[in-house]
Amino acid sequence: MKSHIPGISGRVALVTGASRGIGSAVVKLFAEQGANIVVNYVSDESAASQTVADAEACGVNARAIRADVSTVEDANRLVKETVEHFGRLDFLVCNAGIWEGREVEAISEELWDRTQAINLKGTWTVCRAAVPFMKRQEFGRIVIVSSTAGQRGEANVSNYAASKGGQISFTKSLAPELAPFGINVNCVAPGWVETDMNNGVFGDESRLESILKTIPLRKIGSPEEIAAPIVLLCSSWASYITGEVLNVNGGSVLCG
Ligand code: NAP
Repeated sequence: MKSHIPGISGRVALVTGASRGIGSAVVKLFAEQGANIVVNYVSDESAASQTVADAEACGVNARAIRADVSTVEDANRLVKETVEHFGRLDFLVCNAGIWEGREVEAISEELWDRTQAINLKGTWTVCRAAVPFMKRQEFGRIVIVSSTAGQRGEANVSNYAASKGGQISFTKSLAPELAPFGINVNCVAPGWVETDMNNGVFGDESRLESILKTIPLRKIGSPEEIAAPIVLLCSSWASYITGEVLNVNGGSVLCG
């Protein structure tokens, strides 16, 4: 008999930045556990279609919606179309993000603004749009994907670290604000994960070796290893957890 994680099957999940990497792995795990899914993406339509097809192969309903989370208008449409299509919205995973940095004096105003707009503002826009529906349902689970960079900083990527730190304080603000409405808000903070975001980094053997020395488990994380705790935080096993920042980093950074 196939066993399921309790509280996932039959629910509706919206995952931002779900065409590739961590988001795509989250979609697959939700689908395996019986949740219906919206796969948000911004440009890679064929990857989004493949993620939808993988989810549908598990027997659930899935659809892709193109939306740039950095704009309120797109975020509102993303949530509206989700609710129109599925009738509800139970789980929101704010995962869309970019990682592009330089030394502080070389960061352009455009890069600084784009990083905050996608990573931090883009978390707020989608939560802002989803919360009224979740309040009406008196149920919701929001998981925000931050980073170890948001906990301990990251040299030469201060723009990214600032956006990820902002997501952590945002989580800790929403958790008490939304708890009275049956909405739990948590954060996962991954360390190094093998995705397109790090294209090129792990191919450089000496860089990989120095990165591995900072990780007690001595391995780079897989998208599936980040997806599992995200889905766990949406399940009824995590019903009493809110405002948590979960370290998912092989032991490299030990703070919540
Ligand atoms: P990835 O493989 O580069 O995928 C990024 C995803 O975000 C894609 O689906 C992309 O859509 C989407 N996206 C980018 N800009 C968007 C926008 N404006 N609106 C909507 N979607 C947008 O990244 P990843 O490694 O899976 O990272 C996912 C999250 O984990 C990010 O928040 C990242 O900061 C965090 N994280 C990653 C690592 C790591 O080592 N990989 C470590 C810590 C934290 P398209 O495919 O359409 O471009």
